[in-house]
Amino acid sequence: MSPAEGGGRDDATVGELLRPDLRGSTPYGAPQLDVPVALNTNENAYAVPQVVVDAVVEAVAGVAQELNRYPDREFTRLRRMLASYLTTVTGVAVGEAQVWAGNGSNEVLLHLLQAFGGPGRRALGFTPAYSMHPVITRTVGTQWVDGLRGVQGQGEFDLDADSAVRQVLQHDPQLVFLCSPNNPTGTAVGLDVVEAVYEAAPRALVVVDEAYAEFARPGTPSALTLLEGRERLVVTRTMSKAFALAGTRLGYLAAAPAVTDALRLVRMPYHLSAPTQAIACAALDHVDALLATVEQIKAQRDRIVDELTELGFRPVPSDANFVLFGGVADETALWTALLDHGVLVRDVGLRHHLRVTAGTPEETGTFLAALRALTPTHLQEQPA
Ligand code: PMP
Repeated sequence: MSPAEGGGRDDATVGELLRPDLRGSTPYGAPQLDVPVALNTNENAYAVPQVVVDAVVEAVAGVAQELNRYPDREFTRLRRMLASYLTTVTGVAVGEAQVWAGNGSNEVLLHLLQAFGGPGRRALGFTPAYSMHPVITRTVGTQWVDGLRGVQGQGEFDLDADSAVRQVLQHDPQLVFLCSPNNPTGTAVGLDVVEAVYEAAPRALVVVDEAYAEFARPGTPSALTLLEGRERLVVTRTMSKAFALAGTRLGYLAAAPAVTDALRLVRMPYHLSAPTQAIACAALDHVDALLATVEQIKAQRDRIVDELTELGFRPVPSDANFVLFGGVADETALWTALLDHGVLVRDVGLRHHLRVTAGTPEETGTFLAALRALTPTHLQEQPA
């Protein structure tokens, strides 16, 4: 065998070349199965309204001829429109210099980690929370610390200011993640928790992931209302959920201009394609049409909570477009049985729990009917 064929040499395997801290990791893998009722990734169940489809087609046609050129690296129009949307819905004046966007809020989170994390630094989150927070954190060699949720005498997944502060002081992180409404539990955290964490961690960037904010129950304020005067606070959002545009891949954040300036150091040039920018802007021209389904989805979410309670399961109160429910005898067995009925839900790795996205009334009805049929065998026995 010649040296070119590897003879006589001790070539490394790809596994050996892989960064040691990534060895043995598993990639993100929510199943993408072709099923009649997919309620597993918290997408908006409704198709994009025709008025938005028409606007998107026109907008993409408008940029098609110029695809020989790089897009606006600063996505100026999009930033302006996102700032205006946030200002309108929250009543907080958000300027375009405060807005950043990426290909999904996952990429926005990656930019934050690239700029503010890195080897030798630590990020703290409160588990169970969004499973990608630790994954994204580790991709840049940052250490992830699993904080805990659960408040004595309250919900097992609640997070209160005292507990959060205690954990922040114990771990002294450079980044803290709060997810509100929290995935997979569905509940929002109080702004008192955000404020207390910010005060307790004067040397940390505090990131509030508000991917599901538009579904929150009335009276749930956004952490955007806390941005003023807090340079280390970041609020991330997405067009993947309430806006029904998961396929577009557009997430964004609002923070102090110093934060968005830092993100310019790590993003790839022209990271938002011209079609992505055009689609997002066209959609933002039709916010009311796009968000028209939010109330219907919230009604289905509340219907799930009510009916699961009646069946004897333990749904967690939700401010999102999904419901986590406990009281499941064996979550893998019920997940499989629901799939046999054509309904895909999410096993989030929590014993005796599954998570289901609120769908259209028909989809939700199919899920509830299947669950009703399966309940006798799959309900966890209540402690005496
Ligand atoms: N944050 C949370 C809490 C999520 O649940 C998700 C998606 N499931 C994201 C961020 C990322 O969404 P996207 O990249 O589509 O914006």
